[in-house]
Amino acid sequence: MTKWPRDNQADLLAFYGTPGPDVERQLVNVVPPFQMYYDGKPISRIRFHRKAAGALKAALDEIWEYYGRDQRRIDALGISKYAGTYNPRKVRGSATKWSNHAYGAAIDLNAAENGLGAGRGNMPQPVINAFKRQGARWGGDYRGRTDPMHFEFCDASGYPGVKPVKLFDVPETDADSDLHADRDHTHIDSEPKPSWLRRKWKAVTGWFSGGAGLGVFGYLTDWQVVAVLFGGVLLIVILFVLFMGPGNVRAWIKRQVN
Ligand SMILES: [Zn+2]
Repeated sequence: MTKWPRDNQADLLAFYGTPGPDVERQLVNVVPPFQMYYDGKPISRIRFHRKAAGALKAALDEIWEYYGRDQRRIDALGISKYAGTYNPRKVRGSATKWSNHAYGAAIDLNAAENGLGAGRGNMPQPVINAFKRQGARWGGDYRGRTDPMHFEFCDASGYPGVKPVKLFDVPETDADSDLHADRDHTHIDSEPKPSWLRRKWKAVTGWFSGGAGLGVFGYLTDWQVVAVLFGGVLLIVILFVLFMGPGNVRAWIKRQVN
């Protein structure tokens, strides 16, 4: 795997070149394995820096395989909503530091539901994992203001690695996702919300798993959460029986049955 440059201007300039004509000369076409859309219109290729193009293709290929080469699943999760790569601009709020988009080494996906400051947005963990396996850094991991639509090929040391995939990979809803006032990222109409049951399920498992940032047990998969809940209920029943005395409980059950 390529060793990506550290996220400072000197290292990025040395590795990718100077934003503008120098970088543009080094952009190549990446053909995504699934259909992607920009602003609702189908696209056939993505322009990306030649040094990171292979890694981008590998990440997209892994996503395509993970979702069983099923375009409908990809579409339903918003992954096919391409929202830009190369863009010769400075970092928002800075007059001097180039954005990693200016090197053609960053890609945005599903901007409408993964805006700036939207926490983790609803980016599916398998997508995050696919990019991280290529050494990319995810904007959802930024300390401070997050950028969950954003993946960039610069050194990700010190940032979280690949996480286990939850069996119930339901996108997290985030009330902040409408607040991104980011002119550089495309706004696209959002997908319908997950069903009531799935949102409730997410609320419960998210609280336990730390997905909502409130985790009390660290990162747990959904089945571990189920095990914890089941274990808790079992413990309460056992304590209840011990406290009441088995004889009294039997008598109580008998009264309810009769
Ligand atoms: Zn971005």
